[in-house]
Amino acid sequence: MNLSAQTSKQNIFDLTLEELGINLEQAGFQKFRAKQIYHWLYTHYETNFDAMNNLPKDLKIYLNEYFTSQNISINKKEQSQDGSIKYLFATQDNLTYEAVFLKMKEDKFTLCLSSQIGCKVGCSFCLTAKGGFVRNLTAGEIVYQVVAIKKDQNLPNNKAINIVYMGMGEPLDNLANVTQCIHILSELDGLNISVRRQTISTSGIAPKIKKLGMLNLGVQLAISLHAVSDELRTQLIPINKAYNIQAIIDEIAAFPIDSRKRIMFEYLMIDGINDSLENAKKLVALLNKIKAKVNLIYFNPHEGSPYQRPQREKVEAFREFLLKKGLFCTIRESKGLDISAACGQLREREINQKGEI
Ligand code: SF4
Repeated sequence: MNLSAQTSKQNIFDLTLEELGINLEQAGFQKFRAKQIYHWLYTHYETNFDAMNNLPKDLKIYLNEYFTSQNISINKKEQSQDGSIKYLFATQDNLTYEAVFLKMKEDKFTLCLSSQIGCKVGCSFCLTAKGGFVRNLTAGEIVYQVVAIKKDQNLPNNKAINIVYMGMGEPLDNLANVTQCIHILSELDGLNISVRRQTISTSGIAPKIKKLGMLNLGVQLAISLHAVSDELRTQLIPINKAYNIQAIIDEIAAFPIDSRKRIMFEYLMIDGINDSLENAKKLVALLNKIKAKVNLIYFNPHEGSPYQRPQREKVEAFREFLLKKGLFCTIRESKGLDISAACGQLREREINQKGEI
């Protein structure tokens, strides 16, 4: 279990149901009380222990003394014309991080979660990278993004949502806390978000892909590929120098996946950089032996960025080529262009205006 930063009380959202039950038992309470507390937290989104009216008074006193459930808050919220909403969270140690609520087709929702404040990976197209790395989010700080947004959106507990660990940070660089979060989110007596609905998106740290595979969590995996040559990929994602494209492909080949699923390869389309049919051809050759799906993403330009959004015709031609060659492929529109929905943009703007809160 992981203690929240800067507080002597433990964030209750850090704990799995089992851990909470053991904690209560050791303190002299009945283990089943943990289920009741989980029910309040994850079904009613109730964070005030005193309002949990089926708990005995001495348990409420114990919870108030040793736990906190309110040390993170929504600091800002911006809604896009396309329905996506970006949330800025504030931690108790006065830092901020983001999550995005994406409305997909047919009443389907996806939450894009942050796993770190800042990031060490340093991708050249990413605003989060500019501010450097600050710290890992605790499991509870990751989990809370889901609780707060479901509550804010009035989404009932049983409304299925998809989770992608694709916000600020490299999730495999904070694997222990992300793993703990996956266990908490998938708890049947809690939010009950199946591991199959949870996707870890990584910049491709090959040894950590291996480690994730060995944990065999059952989550989906997405790789931010973005280039078909090591030269370009190193420009875009500098850690490619340490773990090049072939090293990633080798790890993917050994990664355990659900037989009905495919490994997702994210390919950020950047005007004039990687959007030619020559690139598409190389991509087909590269993924030849992998059960893959490619997601083409329009680059979402931000101030000061050297890159531009690609032309629609080129993205569509790229996709057509992949499909003709038998490679599964979708195009993801940039959601929230009017609200700085790309990774790190809202936080960056807030810091520029006010400094870190
Ligand atoms: S794109 Fe992701 S991995 Fe790359 S620097 Fe930004 S947050 Fe880190």
